[in-house]
Amino acid sequence: MVGNWKMNGNLRENAVLLKAIVAGWHGQRNADVVICPPFPYLAHAATVLSGLDIMIGAQTVSEYEKGAYTGEVSAEMLADLNCKFVIIGHNERRRMQRESDLQVAEKFVQAQQAGLIPILCVGESLEDREKGMHLQTISRQLDAVFDLVDKSMFSNAVLAYEPVWAVGTGKTATPSQAEEVHKYMRSQLDEIGEDVRILYGGSVKAHNAEQLFALSDIDGALLGGASLDADEFLAICKAAE
Ligand code: PEP
Repeated sequence: MVGNWKMNGNLRENAVLLKAIVAGWHGQRNADVVICPPFPYLAHAATVLSGLDIMIGAQTVSEYEKGAYTGEVSAEMLADLNCKFVIIGHNERRRMQRESDLQVAEKFVQAQQAGLIPILCVGESLEDREKGMHLQTISRQLDAVFDLVDKSMFSNAVLAYEPVWAVGTGKTATPSQAEEVHKYMRSQLDEIGEDVRILYGGSVKAHNAEQLFALSDIDGALLGGASLDADEFLAICKAAE
């Protein structure tokens, strides 16, 4: 379960949210849980959650190792802050920051080289979905990473299928739409496909989480809005156990 706070919160609001999560946390026996705050709050969240089995992740990372890249944050820096995971290729960054498939692949490489677990997001636009081209888009996004990284490296990565039209819109992919893509992604990973964790992301809430988690090819969820509400977040974590 991965909570992506996006560009929300401040020290005071985060303290309230984290306190509520800590208070309602009873340990998740069968689910790995990760919270991804904005960069400036990573250290604070890591400190507050340090006694719990909740891990910390970042929302993006530089495709470069180090150097004259003003404003960028390297994978080594994230590892230094005890981050275990990093979201790569979120559709908001692909669209708004114009991150290319190649840049996303380079970020994946940087993350793994620093010992972080990349959470690689892929997903089609509404237009691609309506044209029946969704699998081609997923394939293109995956192939860009396969060009730089041996498929076996995905045993230490997480994939997230996030249809662009479902993220932050209140529209969720139907179970059969999600299953089709998740199965396709496994098939693209050859022999390790069955072992790679594939999350679904796109308007997952407490009321629809159980239905999605019941599907054999969905291993968890990437949560945006729902991760900003402690009760909702905890209920979804519970549904994933
Ligand atoms: C996301 O930001 O990755 C996401 C899935 O957002 P939401 O849950 O709000 O659709």
